[in-house]
Amino acid sequence: MYAVKANPSPDLLGVLWDNGIVHYDTASIGEVRLVKATLPDATCHFMHPIKAPEAIAEAYFEHGVRTFSLDSMDELHKIVAATDGATDLTLCVRMRVSSEYAKLSLGSKFGVAQGEAKDLLIATRQVADALGICFHVGSQTMSPDAYANAMERVRAAIVEAGVTVDVIDVGGGFPSRYPGMTPPPLERFFETIHRAFESLPISYSAELWAEPGRALCAEYASVVVRVEHRRGAELFINDGAYGSLFDAAHIGWKYPVQLLRQPESDARDMDFSFWGPTCDDIDQMQGPFPLPADTRSGDYFEIGMLGAYGSAMRTAFNGFGNGETVLTDDEPMESMYIELDPVPAFVSNNVVKL
Ligand SMILES: *Cc1c(COP(=O)(O)O)cnc(C)c1O
Repeated sequence: MYAVKANPSPDLLGVLWDNGIVHYDTASIGEVRLVKATLPDATCHFMHPIKAPEAIAEAYFEHGVRTFSLDSMDELHKIVAATDGATDLTLCVRMRVSSEYAKLSLGSKFGVAQGEAKDLLIATRQVADALGICFHVGSQTMSPDAYANAMERVRAAIVEAGVTVDVIDVGGGFPSRYPGMTPPPLERFFETIHRAFESLPISYSAELWAEPGRALCAEYASVVVRVEHRRGAELFINDGAYGSLFDAAHIGWKYPVQLLRQPESDARDMDFSFWGPTCDDIDQMQGPFPLPADTRSGDYFEIGMLGAYGSAMRTAFNGFGNGETVLTDDEPMESMYIELDPVPAFVSNNVVKL
């Protein structure tokens, strides 16, 4: 599955579909509607453990959704009621697992703890056509051990409950590459997961699922911004915390940057921090971001790797956020999939120019 939350761009959905991705992890009825409107033959799975009853009903009766996740008895009863006691459901119990290897935790909000999963697994087994167990190890997970450890909790829960499990869904969390964050190759993650899956006490025909978001779209978009003002090592730019740079502002995420000036600057790089365009002090990205020391107002530069949780989170706060979207077909600034040799290309796939 592709986790639509990471970037719901219809153009991207089309690219993924053309490359063989036909299942989509949706977390809201809005995402379900968007996917079905863009890709009518796609299969949506509703993987948010807490849903509105009318969203469940619309997903089931109007969009053919059959897979739902849950982490409580309440939600189980809600799903059964909203689908009029459907007997063709795949129900995935979301387990709580550690986020210790992830740059962004998803460990506190959802999931039933291993020791408390037994009753829920047994009750869910009784109404589900297929029973699944899902989890999320946190976003941008830097070690395959995270998945191995989570699978151990899954094993313990299955043994305690003594239920037959048909689906193991290892969720998202697969990493991409950012400055200062170079994860091991994805193959190492897949090997670890396959090994753990093969050794679980599950039905011989059980399926292994995953819901990557970031790993499938981080490379998809860049944002081109303009320097409106320079104050020493601080650049005032026309995108920020309320735009594509939420993670850069709030959790200090670093993205690759590259000055777009012809002829190219021959000044050495120096470290800059950025201010976004709104009037708030929190609209600040500390970085540091290396750019040529003669960077000045009027310059444009590219911020890469904003395909996941970047363009998707832009708002119109304070009257900013209008950008022009341009589709290009050159290489991203970083990649988990291709060797970028010798230097990163100039502009990446889907450029939002502000
Ligand atoms: C956010 C989310 C994903 C995608 O996570 P990534 O870290 O982007 O891979 C997958 N599944 C669920 C339930 C999520 O909430």
